[in-house]
Amino acid sequence: MKRILVTGGAGFIGSHLCERLLNEGNEVICMDNYFTGSKANILHLLGNPFFELVRHDVTEPYFAEVDEIYNLACPASPPHYQHNPIKTIKTSVMGAINMLGLAKRVNAKILQASTSEVYGDPEIHPQPESYWGNVNPIGPRSCYDEGKRCAESLFINYHKQNNVRIKIIRIFNTYGTRMNPYDGRVVSNFIVQALKGEDITIYGNGKQSRSFQYVDDLVEGMIRMMNAEDSFIGPVNIGNPGEFTMIELAEKILELTKSKSKLIFQELPQDDPLQRQPDITLAKKQLNGWVPKVQLEEGLKKTIEYFKKVV
Ligand code: NAD
Ligand code: UDP
Repeated sequence: MKRILVTGGAGFIGSHLCERLLNEGNEVICMDNYFTGSKANILHLLGNPFFELVRHDVTEPYFAEVDEIYNLACPASPPHYQHNPIKTIKTSVMGAINMLGLAKRVNAKILQASTSEVYGDPEIHPQPESYWGNVNPIGPRSCYDEGKRCAESLFINYHKQNNVRIKIIRIFNTYGTRMNPYDGRVVSNFIVQALKGEDITIYGNGKQSRSFQYVDDLVEGMIRMMNAEDSFIGPVNIGNPGEFTMIELAEKILELTKSKSKLIFQELPQDDPLQRQPDITLAKKQLNGWVPKVQLEEGLKKTIEYFKKVV
């Protein structure tokens, strides 16, 4: 039995990861400050004696004897990470320093939940891990993008300087059950609007694209990465290459919810990336043939059923 720390464990992705790790017979410590996560996400795990919940802010040092650390603590939705940008930077940078320090001290393996945002508004399409990205360092998204880029640098340097066993994954847009219905991301916004019969808010002309991955595929990729041989440290893209424009996404959600909501067009946020698609060649090769299995329609159906219950 391994003892595993999941920071940001009460969030959307973290709660699925905690559940899966417990089901595989591990002991799990879930650390969260509940900024964007919620106890409701992990309520069903509280009766498990091998699950421990800790209210803690990752910007403060934390000590526990653990074998593995998944570092997920960080708001992921643009309205939330831009709400207090300095705090977002502190969470990524000081959080990484604190967790890497812990990993060094107890000789734990540590995985960083990095992001496709390190590629910024990409000029290369699809994005391989070798692409260095196109990020505006002073734009409204920089608190998140540069925070995550600095965290990658910290990870690589703790590895080189202190031999910490690290793993970096770059997660592309992920959706699924337990997303906060009001956190402002596109999949949750569109489903909630469609279910309530409200207008669907398309930012810009809706021709910008994203590639959407269902959360179960991500969790599988994360665990395979943690368990891969120590010499494979990444960064590795984990995402579903299925690419859609925001108009296509809205139309698919209208069809699946049988909603009569109308599309309305609003201003495109500054520095909103025009396109995004993962090149997953490396993940397939290094993670035992990992490929995303849940395609958009199937994943959306599950997510819509969930939102019908919570909205
Ligand atoms: P989320 O907002 O649901 O989860 C983040 C969790 O971290 C929340 O529970 C939140 O309360 C917690 N948290 C935030 N700041 C904290 C702090 N200072 N101390 C302790 N806990 C803190 O978002 P998510 O989609 O589950 O994202 C999880 C991780 O995956 C994040 O690091 C995010 O950057 C990364 N990621 C997500 C996506 C995606 O599409 N969902 C894409 C790329 C990367
Ligand atoms: N978006 C949109 N309407 C919304 C929310 C988002 O058109 O109500 C667009 C947004 O401008 C972006 C895409 O959807 O182009 C994905 O946005 P999200 O915030 O989910 O993720 P990110 O931009 O970080 O990839």
